[in-house]
Amino acid sequence: MTSDPLTSPYRGRLLIGGAWVDADDGGTLERWSPAHDKLVAVYAQAGVADAQRAIAAAREAFDRGPWPHMKGADRARVLRQVADAILARKSELALMESLENGKPLAQSAAEIEAAADLWQYAATLARNLHGDSYNTLGENTLGVVLREPIGVVSIITPWNFPFLIVSQKLPFALAAGCTTVVKPAEVTSGTTVMLGEILVQAGMPAGAVNILVGRGSVVGEVLVGHPDVDMLSFTGSTAVGKQAVATSARTLKKVSMELGGKNPQIIFPDCDWEAALDATVFGIYFNAGQCCNSGSRVLVHESIAERFVAHVVERSKQVQVGDPLQPGVQVGAITTDKQLDTILSHIEAARAAGATIALGGSRMARTGMFVEPTVVTGVTPDMAIAKEEVFGPVLSVLTFKTLDEAIALANGTLYGLSAAVWSRDFSTCLAAARRIKAGTVWLNTFLEGHAELPFGGFRESGIGRELGRFATEDYTETKTVHMHLGERTEWWLPR
Ligand code: NAD
Repeated sequence: MTSDPLTSPYRGRLLIGGAWVDADDGGTLERWSPAHDKLVAVYAQAGVADAQRAIAAAREAFDRGPWPHMKGADRARVLRQVADAILARKSELALMESLENGKPLAQSAAEIEAAADLWQYAATLARNLHGDSYNTLGENTLGVVLREPIGVVSIITPWNFPFLIVSQKLPFALAAGCTTVVKPAEVTSGTTVMLGEILVQAGMPAGAVNILVGRGSVVGEVLVGHPDVDMLSFTGSTAVGKQAVATSARTLKKVSMELGGKNPQIIFPDCDWEAALDATVFGIYFNAGQCCNSGSRVLVHESIAERFVAHVVERSKQVQVGDPLQPGVQVGAITTDKQLDTILSHIEAARAAGATIALGGSRMARTGMFVEPTVVTGVTPDMAIAKEEVFGPVLSVLTFKTLDEAIALANGTLYGLSAAVWSRDFSTCLAAARRIKAGTVWLNTFLEGHAELPFGGFRESGIGRELGRFATEDYTETKTVHMHLGERTEWWLPR
């Protein structure tokens, strides 16, 4: 990117078979900044024919190209080079992310750095991917278990952390030796297309990574259903995820699904008060609440609820909402108009169900799509606001009397992505952690992540895990090589 997209929109094309191309039908797609209401990018918009060509290119690159057969050390070198190039282009990438997503620039920059770390980590795994051997099966037998790249992987990502999420998938699939077709969310395609530029410069073989900007209902459907795709790695909503699993089942693909959440933070009376308050506010307003991991429910012990909530409301008033390009802003714009409608209708439904809007509750009167930090009290477990993902800066407050009641509330949704427990008593923390049905439980902290720690959801929050030392294994098939040594020892026919 050579110019500022606020003055001259970024132009992106499709990456298919190592070449940057326009869409077969000449279609294009525009992106307008949700915070400034300005045109910031124009892309070639892929259709079905482009998706089919991209899958064919990935298939060819897997079946006949060099990438799956390269040494782990050589793949690792390319991944490290990509990590370095990401850091070298950090400010460009961050600006694009902020303009398309609406998040504050400093948070975009932190996201780009975290993503570069994932490329570095995947490089270490590329050299450590290995199978197993069994020398315990008797004198005449040796068993070797091979890990082979699974093949062509479709990678479909959402708009809330576009660059981080593609980096939770792509480098690990590549480390394993797979080839890929990547489809970012159509509203935040910029940084993924720029990643394509970086990959080409790093010498990625033609067809190993193909990138399609396009609609989920068109391009996504092809990537999910095509018989030449071996695996689907999807992050997005539970509703679309279920549909994608159903479609992919027609060709029995392996799936890795990272879906929605309705994550509780449980506050006990003996918590570190200031830390719990700060994490409650951070947990719901970070990324304007548009995180799968948002702490969108706070479950507070009855004895401290009134005081705790009063403090949450006070802190919420201090949160700086505004232009994501201005320093000091903590919460930017809502990313899409559809999401804005979803958030406002959830708030209205809560009000109609008898909950109290203790703070906020409205769209802010200014250019762009901004929602006030919102606190909803008087929430009961049967209300939709207590169970459904809002994906906005809207905190639901519920209360409990006992640990059992807190666990029942925490587990009382169909999701199971993450949770937090706040208590100075580690027995309380661990008792809760062992009973909460969630892929991540934070104790006295919230929303922290490390490449070493697996991430994913129980129940309707997903299938499989990303990150951690087994992250590359997910992108492999297991093959048993069963060897007989020496003369045949057991005869089928009498001799
Ligand atoms: P979404 O489900 O609307 O879209 C996700 C992706 O799927 C996009 O690229 C979209 O174009 C594509 N898509 C849409 N229809 C499709 C179809 N029929 N076939 C194939 N692909 C299709 O989600 P979103 O609104 O972009 O993102 C928000 C959701 O993502 C939230 O529910 C959030 O919780 C979830 N999320 C989960 C995680 C996680 O790791 N668990 C992380 C981030 C976001």
